[in-house]
Amino acid sequence: MSAEDDRKATETVLRVLRHPSISKLSFKATTTIQKGSVVSVSTRTVSPVLYDEVCKAIVDRKITVLVQPTILPPGAAAAYLHKLTIDADNEWYDIIILGKPDLGNTAPEQVKTAAEIVHECTHAGYDLLKLPKTALVEHEVGAYVAGALFAAEAMVLLKAHPERVSGLQGTAKAAWDIALLELADQPVPRALYDKLALAIRSDPLYRDHANDDLVNDGVGKAWKIKGAGR
Ligand SMILES: [Zn+2]
Repeated sequence: MSAEDDRKATETVLRVLRHPSISKLSFKATTTIQKGSVVSVSTRTVSPVLYDEVCKAIVDRKITVLVQPTILPPGAAAAYLHKLTIDADNEWYDIIILGKPDLGNTAPEQVKTAAEIVHECTHAGYDLLKLPKTALVEHEVGAYVAGALFAAEAMVLLKAHPERVSGLQGTAKAAWDIALLELADQPVPRALYDKLALAIRSDPLYRDHANDDLVNDGVGKAWKIKGAGR
């Protein structure tokens, strides 16, 4: 993809991170972790400040936005990679990948793509904060709720009705149920967070690695590029 596409994609992500719906992203992502017979509960506070930090990191070129549709999993509009290995001599770090430079043409498509970007920026934010010992399932709980809450609030701003959304399944449904309560400033029962964690653990995308800790080593690491600094 072209440098022009990457520039446009960067603007797209920054626009999402400055969208008024970001102000709603205030919640405690709660995940019950079971490793063998040991059960623990992890709580991660997500707030609009996290997205401000990601925004700044993109402006400061510590996080890079690229259009690379071939790298994305099927059906995904965005992904965050703390490391992208090209070959033995080239390794890139802290990248947000988009499938295309813009959010799409229709309002529903734009909300959906923006919500996916928010999801991925949550992963970027956890990395930026260098959160220690964060299992994949915890990362995904925070990211799914953030994406759903952003989409629900964006719908409200468009005078649409998030409570009338139907046909969601799995992780999307579990996250939406939490988002509707958060949107209404109502308490979220732990059972709903456990349901989301279970949906993540059952999803083939995450099933085999749900308990693995992800590397949150901060952002802004210099890329390994053969024969060149960055
Ligand atoms: Zn994710």
